[in-house]
Amino acid sequence: MSNSDAPTVEGTKTPTYNRLFNAPDADLTVRSSDGQLFRVHRRNLYEHTEGFPGEDITVNTDEEIVSLTESASTLELLFQFMYRQEQPDVRQLQSTELFDLAEAVEKYRVFPALQVCNMAMAAAVPVAPVTVLMYALRHNHPALCNAAASEVRGSGSVGIISLDEAFLGSWLAYCSVFKEALKNARQAPGLVVHKGGRKKCDTWKAFQLRMDGSIESLCRQDDIRFQETFAWLERLTDDCYQCYTRARQWRKVIVRSRREVQREFTSFL
Ligand SMILES: [Zn+2]
Repeated sequence: MSNSDAPTVEGTKTPTYNRLFNAPDADLTVRSSDGQLFRVHRRNLYEHTEGFPGEDITVNTDEEIVSLTESASTLELLFQFMYRQEQPDVRQLQSTELFDLAEAVEKYRVFPALQVCNMAMAAAVPVAPVTVLMYALRHNHPALCNAAASEVRGSGSVGIISLDEAFLGSWLAYCSVFKEALKNARQAPGLVVHKGGRKKCDTWKAFQLRMDGSIESLCRQDDIRFQETFAWLERLTDDCYQCYTRARQWRKVIVRSRREVQREFTSFL
């Protein structure tokens, strides 16, 4: 969403100044990675950030220009959070714009934008869970990390192979525990012999059919929902004491499995 007329090509003698940030009384000029210049006030940067513009800068003391690695469109968004004016609606940004902004906000610790970017990244979990997971890990946002990790695991995304080596072992353990717990939950408990020595009856067949389709959601549900759902399923065994007994045993197995299924990714780090 750059407002520049044209991007500045590195090396040209007529740089483009950003139209929103071109203050005549500016005491600092910032150059974006694509060559656009922003004339801003050090005081605003100092008051709204932690150590902006950071350590990875190159300063040309003759021209008082600081070169940054962010693009003009990212800097234009970023600076809007450092001035007393209406702030950009980050919900309207394209995914890549948001991700670049969120990274810059964390890098320079732009306090007015930290929370809003974090919320926008949380909203992006369903569309880009791997990207959000990486961001959350890099910048230590545990709740966001767990939400994104669950989404990535559920989607079976192969993008996770780009996970930093330091996290890879944790990721594999997280997936393995989940898979094993679901497998255990799917195992119906041992037979309860019916009158006349019968191993099971039609009641069990109907119950098991329902259970087979419900195990994963039973394991993921919160406690109250789980109790409600299982109580409803259990009623299918009301007319057979042996099947009811076996259903209660299965419930115990699922309760144990749920704890493992619901373990959060950060508990493996
Ligand atoms: Zn029965």
